[in-house]
Parts: sequence; structure tokens; C-alpha cells
Amino acid sequence: MNSKTPNFDKVLEDYYRELKLNENGGQWRTCRFSGEKFYVQPEDIGFYKRIGVPLPTLSPAERLRRRGAYLNNYNLFKISSAHSQKPIVAAYPPDTPYKIFEHKFWFSGKWNPLDYGFAPTGDSFFAQFGKLQKAVPRPNLITDSTNIGSDYTNTSINLRDCYFTFSTLSGENLYYFDCCDSSKDCVDCESAWNATDCYHSQLVYDCYKCAVCEDCRNCLNSFFLFDCRDCDHCFMSSNLRHKKYYFMNRPLPKEEYEAELKKINLGNYLEFLKYLAQFDELQKEAIRKPDHNFKSVNCSGDFILNSKNCHAGNYLVDAENVNYSFGLGYYKDSYDGFGGGGGELCYEFTSISTTGNYNVKFSVQMGEARDVEYCDLCRNCHDCFGCIGLQNKSFCVLNKQYSEGDYWRTVDDLKMAMLKNGEYGEFFPPKLMPIPYKLSFMTAYNNFCDYEKAERYGYDVRDVAAVSEKPEGEIINAADLPEDIKDVDDSMLKKAVFDDVNNRYFRIVPYELAFYRRNSFPLPRIHPLQRLARFREIYDFLIHTYARHCKKCGVAIVSVFDPKEYESVYCESCYNAEVV
Ligand SMILES: [Zn+2]
Repeated sequence: MNSKTPNFDKVLEDYYRELKLNENGGQWRTCRFSGEKFYVQPEDIGFYKRIGVPLPTLSPAERLRRRGAYLNNYNLFKISSAHSQKPIVAAYPPDTPYKIFEHKFWFSGKWNPLDYGFAPTGDSFFAQFGKLQKAVPRPNLITDSTNIGSDYTNTSINLRDCYFTFSTLSGENLYYFDCCDSSKDCVDCESAWNATDCYHSQLVYDCYKCAVCEDCRNCLNSFFLFDCRDCDHCFMSSNLRHKKYYFMNRPLPKEEYEAELKKINLGNYLEFLKYLAQFDELQKEAIRKPDHNFKSVNCSGDFILNSKNCHAGNYLVDAENVNYSFGLGYYKDSYDGFGGGGGELCYEFTSISTTGNYNVKFSVQMGEARDVEYCDLCRNCHDCFGCIGLQNKSFCVLNKQYSEGDYWRTVDDLKMAMLKNGEYGEFFPPKLMPIPYKLSFMTAYNNFCDYEKAERYGYDVRDVAAVSEKPEGEIINAADLPEDIKDVDDSMLKKAVFDDVNNRYFRIVPYELAFYRRNSFPLPRIHPLQRLARFREIYDFLIHTYARHCKKCGVAIVSVFDPKEYESVYCESCYNAEVV
């Protein structure tokens, strides 16, 4: 096959021919930002060569920071639309330099992103892309047009009647939700996949009517479970498999179990807190495997599920040959991904809540895209370079339409110039991030709140004005809320709650109140975003491992659990012998 970018391909071929590798076929490099040494594995070099890019110049950690700094997930603002001038909820602060449209209009096809295109100039590519960023309108939220009745959500698709829901691929009646798929009628959950009628739970899969459960599968009608599988009617228990009527890790006859539950009133806030504290202790004492990986083969990292050959990964589901990535589901042969629900042969991309990508490089928020590079917010496009906001387009460069032949000639010239000035092979640089660093994903998880360092690397680390203002109407301090849900009347829906710990206001909404009443749970006293932030505390962007010994057999293991915090960590075989 004839090369479509012959000049670029020739230079890259020379680059690889001259590349000096060590005796194992890898190469040690020094991160351009942090100065840290990082090793490029031989299989990595094979991947970079296959997709036609030079070796990375940043360490895996700094590459992760750069991808995650592009998007704001959790901080929503009221701003006015550049289209209708009406107030809208947006993932951009009021002083944003970008034109922000309500996403329904943005996706309507009633404006033309090609109106903003221009022919490449002699400036650096990133300078030209920055110019295009300022010109092309952006949707207020990171989503597509599939959400119904779910305005106060972000980075989510296929939602119906959801509220405060983030990074979710589909769901119905979800309130205060993060990183979920296929769930319905739930409140306050993180990583709930196919969950129904669940509350305040994390890492729950195929669960029904579970409350305060963590790392559970196929469980129902249960409370305060940790690491349980296929359990029904269980309370405050850990490491159970195929059990029914267990109370505090002991079997009880059905009648006795029911009598015990009758004595407990989780609808009372203080009683609920007491059991929450007991659940914390239970989790500390529970037996743990060295990491959270599940049904994964030849993988390194944490929270890797149903995956194969994935390394330096964190939070991957159904992934194969995926390295240096965070938060990907259904990806194959891809490196350096940050969020996304399906793709193949992708590199250096941030694609929360999008699917169907193939050969997407150095791009953000692409859906159903093929063979594109350096694009942002494009849907159903192929063969595009440096474009923003396109739908159903091909052969465009910087939002300008070309014939197929002219497209490849233009791309060849651009890539040659970029390779020469060091831009090609790099994700968008810190100065092109469309939001201030402190609003980005990188500050939502552990490890990257090092603002001085971020500023040194070129990120905009200014403070952004507080998200919530004092609401109108009656305000009630969280501490003054009724202690028991049965004492809460409908006037609660008209009041705003002040969370004095986090200095933020929030409201209780009708679906939520009905849920608490139906299931007998107390009113929450912490702002919903802070409740979601607590769920994220178990994840680290950077995986730390500890050399320690299996508590049972003493064999040396590598674990993600700090020996100072968790005592009962077993090797895989002891865990399986004891628990499964
Ligand atoms: Zn062992």
C-alpha cells in the first residue's frame, strides 16, 4: 500500500532505525517535565512503532496528568449560554474564554463548526489549535444527545432522570453517582454495574437492594457487606460466598435474623453512623487479596477486571493489551487512555463516556471516530486532523474541508513540521487545557494536587471562585436536620441544607426523599460532591505497592495495601483457600 504521508513516514522510519535500545530492547528516558527517569519497555516500543509515533518524552505519571487536566468532571457552574444568553449548568467557570452552548443546541446541527476553520499557517500547530479552540463553541457539559431529564450530570451518556451523576455510561433514576453502568433506582454509589435499588455502595456488580456494601457481586437484600459474593439477607459481614441469613459473620435461623434486623433502625442518623463505624472496623479486619484485580490474566496495576495483558493500569474493565491507562472499559491494543467506553488502537486520549473509537491519537472526547489525530469533541468522524466539534465529517484539517488527496498532503506537511519542532507525539500541552488545573480530574483523585509543580510545568493553577452561592429561601444547618427519617416532612424539599464542614449548600430532591423514606435511611448531612469524593479516596492515580508477607503462609507478596493499615492480606492461593 502506498503511504498516505510519505515524507512523515520516511522520517519516522529513520528515527526508529537510529533509535538506540539497551540489550533487552527497551530504553531509559528522562521525563521532560519532572526530570525523572522512566523505562520504555520493548513491547511499548513495538506499539509506538506500530501506530507510527515517536517514543514519549514524559514519564507515565506526567502523561497521565496532562490527559486528566483537560477535563472538568465534578465542578459545575451556572453561566450564560453564548447561544441563547440563558443561564445554563456548565463544566466551565463564568470567566471562561470559550463560547459555551447548551449541549442540545450544540448537537442539533444548527451551527456549522466548519465556519471557524482556516488553512494552516506557518505558526506552530499547537498555537494554531489554540486559536481554533477560542473560536469554536463548546457544549456546556461533556455528554452527547442521549440524556433525558438529566441536566445536572456530566461526562455521562444514556441517562434518564438522573441527578449529580458522573462518568456513567447508562442508567435511570440515579442520584449522586459516579463511574457506573446499567444501574437504576439507586442513590449514592460509585462503581455500581447492573445495580438496582442500592444505596451508599461501591464496587458492586449485579446487586439488588444492597446498602453500604463494598466489593460485592450478585448480592441482594443486604447491608454492610464487604467482599461478598452471591449472598442474600446478610448483615455486617465480610468474605462470604453463597450465604443466606448471616448476621455479623454468623449464620442465624431466618426468624432470628429477622428479629435482629427489627431491633436496628438505620433510618436514625446516629444509629446509621454507629454501624458505619463498625463497618469500617469490619473492613480493616477482613481478609484481602494483594490487590483488587478480578478475573484478570497477566495484568499489573489495581482494580483491573476481566482483562488480559494490561500493565501499569488502574481501573480497567474488559481490556486487553492496554497499558498506562486509567478508567477504561472495553478497550483493546491501546496505550495512555483516560476514561472511555470502547475502542481499539488508541493512544494518548481522554474520552470519558464515549464509545466506538479506532486509531484515535492525541484526542479528547471523540465518539465513533476512526483514524483521527489531535481532535477535540468530534463525533462519527474519520480521517480528521486538528479539528474541534465536527460531526459526520472526514478529510478536515483545523475545521477546514479538503479533498482526500489534499487532506493527506496537508497532514503530511503538518506532521513533518510537528515532528521537527517536537510537537508530534505529544498530547495537547498544559497551556491548551480548556479549564484551570484546580477544576480538572487531576485534583479529584489522590496524588496530583502538587500545584507548585503543576505550575512549573505550565498548568494554570489559579483558584476558581466557589462553586455554590448562598441559596434563596429557608436554610437549615446539617446538624439541625431531623435525626430520624420518619420525622422528616415534605417541607424539607423547600429548604437548603448547609454543610458547615465543607462550607457548601445542597438540597434534598423529591426522588431522593422518597427513596430514603421507602428504604428507611436518614437524610445525608454532607454535600453530595463531598460524599462522592469520599468514594474516590480508595483510588490512587499512581499505584503504590508494598513488599510484605502473606499473613497466613508467610510467602513474600507485593500488595497495594499498606501493612500499617491492613493486617489481613493473604497471598492469592491462601485467599482462595480461605474465602472462595
Ligand atoms: Zn499465603
